[in-house]
Amino acid sequence: MSNASIRYGASLRKRYNAIKGKKRAAYKCELCGRENVRRISTSIWQCRHCKAVYAGGAYTMSTQKGEVAKRLISELNKHTYKKEEGLRANEILAKEESAATNS
Ligand SMILES: [Zn+2]
Repeated sequence: MSNASIRYGASLRKRYNAIKGKKRAAYKCELCGRENVRRISTSIWQCRHCKAVYAGGAYTMSTQKGEVAKRLISELNKHTYKKEEGLRANEILAKEESAATNS
């Protein structure tokens, strides 16, 4: 029996099975490309090659919600660059809307 040590409820066993193996696995480093990122503490992951530190999920390198937040932040950054070009938020939106209707 693989789950002999997980006691006191099916829900606990399910939660354990969901993260089993992912906590100690090595993940790919976004900076150096090596599969050497390991968990050093709750939601803190570090590449053992280049020492880069990542904030991730508590037991896995990334979570679904974390990916959504990442995408949102990159979208917001695109808008920030446009702001630096001297455009206001409503001007950016108007430009994008006209581009969408033209295409
Ligand atoms: Zn690295």
